[in-house]
Amino acid sequence: MDPFGRHIDYLRISITDRCNERCLYCMPEGYKGWENRPEHLTAAEIIRIVRVAAGLGFRKFRLTGGEPLVRNDVPEIVRAMTEIPGVECLGLSTNGTRLAALAPPLRAAGLRTVNVSLDALDAGLYRRITGGDVNTVIAGIRAAVAAGFERVKLNCVLMRGVNEAELWPLVLFASEHGVPLRLIELMPLTRTDVLTEKNFLPVGEAMELLRQRDELIPQPDRRLGWGPAKYFQLKHTGALVGFIGALTNLHFCESCNKMRLTADGKIRPCLGDHGEIDLRAALRATDSDDALRELFATALRQKPLEHQFRGAYQPCRPMTAIGG
Ligand code: SAM
Ligand code: SF4
Repeated sequence: MDPFGRHIDYLRISITDRCNERCLYCMPEGYKGWENRPEHLTAAEIIRIVRVAAGLGFRKFRLTGGEPLVRNDVPEIVRAMTEIPGVECLGLSTNGTRLAALAPPLRAAGLRTVNVSLDALDAGLYRRITGGDVNTVIAGIRAAVAAGFERVKLNCVLMRGVNEAELWPLVLFASEHGVPLRLIELMPLTRTDVLTEKNFLPVGEAMELLRQRDELIPQPDRRLGWGPAKYFQLKHTGALVGFIGALTNLHFCESCNKMRLTADGKIRPCLGDHGEIDLRAALRATDSDDALRELFATALRQKPLEHQFRGAYQPCRPMTAIGG
């Protein structure tokens, strides 16, 4: 339990800050190699931390980044994690660009769920938003569905004036592939200039846009995964759509269950708060896990009540290193 009575059992791990795309809201100039390589955790170090975390009661783990699949050792990391007692749920967030080839080996290694980012289906717009090719991502999504993961979900970041017209095609795509679609409010994660009054599209408005096409039936008891999405089923298309209102939902943090591990080995109790606890130094200084356990306990005590995104939060390092 954290000081506010929340049960924290979910660790999101950024296994790299590198990425092969350059999304407008995340890394618009592309990867700049801002992190020093030796500072990054090795696969063995990640596994050791997961073992300690699982021993402390963490049960859900997600590999993210950056783009986790630019690392070649992800299937090995997954396999080793699934062998750790206590690791009950293991998921991956990806931009999908390398998923077509990697979905089968990742599933075989024991990965259970995959979240794929998809902000637009229109090829030109997808390229404008991410710099990448939507057809490779669609192939990746299809490969993930075919590989038999327990769940594949789509994530779309809402941007006014950019992808509103894509929402309905995305709903149809999601329903055709039998996968839930989650619509996510833009957050000032890497830079503040991506989030302006002009381009912020609240989930409430996205909901209204979908209501013009179909009836939204609330699914208050539906929990698909371990996150804060509120789900609705669309009456006629059958699509399941989750809304993640990190900024407009004032109760967003009340049910938070997670902490993050950054690509360079810091525990970050909250995505939207600068507090970090350095695990890497202890990890490299000693073979004993006692110090790591103590640092996890410190992180838990320091978990803030809520994120600072609605205030004057200024990101001081990129989302890709922290782990989205
Ligand atoms: N590269 C992978 C991907 O794109 O899915 C994993 C890392 S990415 C940082 C994880 C999630 O964070 C993605 O769904 C992405 O759309 C989301 N994200 C990144 N920057 C964001 C921002 N400024 N506001 C809201 N969501 C953001
Ligand atoms: Fe890369 Fe994901 Fe960030 Fe896009 S959101 S730049 S794919 S890390």
